[in-house]
Amino acid sequence: MIFDLHCHSTVSDGVLTPQELLARAVERKVDVLALTDHDTTDGIDIIRHEIAEQGLEIELISGVEISTCWENKDIHIVGLNIDIKHPKMIEYLKNQSEIRENRAVEIGRRLEKNNLAENVYQGAKEIAAGGQIGRGHFARYLIKIGLVKDNANAFKKYLARGKVGYVPSPWPDMASAITVIQECGGQAVLAHPMGYKLSGKWQRKLTKAFKSDGGDAIEAAGCQLAPPHRQHIASLAQEYDLLVSAGSDFHFPSSWIELGRNLYFAKDVTPIWQTWPKYSHVS
Ligand code: AMP
Ligand code: MN
Ligand code: MN
Ligand code: MN
Repeated sequence: MIFDLHCHSTVSDGVLTPQELLARAVERKVDVLALTDHDTTDGIDIIRHEIAEQGLEIELISGVEISTCWENKDIHIVGLNIDIKHPKMIEYLKNQSEIRENRAVEIGRRLEKNNLAENVYQGAKEIAAGGQIGRGHFARYLIKIGLVKDNANAFKKYLARGKVGYVPSPWPDMASAITVIQECGGQAVLAHPMGYKLSGKWQRKLTKAFKSDGGDAIEAAGCQLAPPHRQHIASLAQEYDLLVSAGSDFHFPSSWIELGRNLYFAKDVTPIWQTWPKYSHVS
């Protein structure tokens, strides 16, 4: 079976609509898909409705990817199987939206102040088209006006930490995200642990903090993750007694990241879905 428990749609910074994402997941033979947009669950009901309407076999897990701050770093926590109607989740995500909106205005200001572009906030907002705004929309605006050639360069030159368009945000701490996910019936997953540019020592420190804050699982499989990295994360999972999750973190079609692709684990780990009654025997 193929589980892909991390991906994005136009409801945040993905480029496929929830419907298009679902169609692609079906085409890629994904059996269980979690939609995990940044700080919003607005796409969940759209996909759920579509699955019912078309009578599809694919199972949707209600998910979200929450931005948090730990030791002055942006750390992402994926919530799986959350109750998206729970008042605590709704309230938590409303606050996240406000942080994103304030940050977006400030990103626009900074890029304009440096005479890099005009109408930056409006441009990004238009691309976000009512979705949860993020740096990905700014990247697409900078590409659109010809300032950079692609997404990677937009981040490298302007949007990554330390660059002129990077605005630190008052994200809540990891513990609060883990708590709200669990209060809403879900499990908390430390997203893409190799994605934070941390040394081995800091990775361990982060994993340890995540566990002691009550976290459930760590992402140990991604499309492009090299085997030694999978091995390394599996060891962290063993050492800190965490379940493992698998996700492509798909945002847009490309030749390197694809829904459901290469999501295998290195060794002796317990997939998070084994704690879900239906899949307790699926490895
Ligand atoms: P935000 O949540 O708005 O701070 O943006 C985080 C998102 O930006 C990630 O989910 C990725 O989609 C994207 N991103 C972050 N860093 C990079 C990077 N170095 N290159 C390309 N995309 C990135
Ligand atoms: Mn993203
Ligand atoms: Mn992320
Ligand atoms: Mn993601």
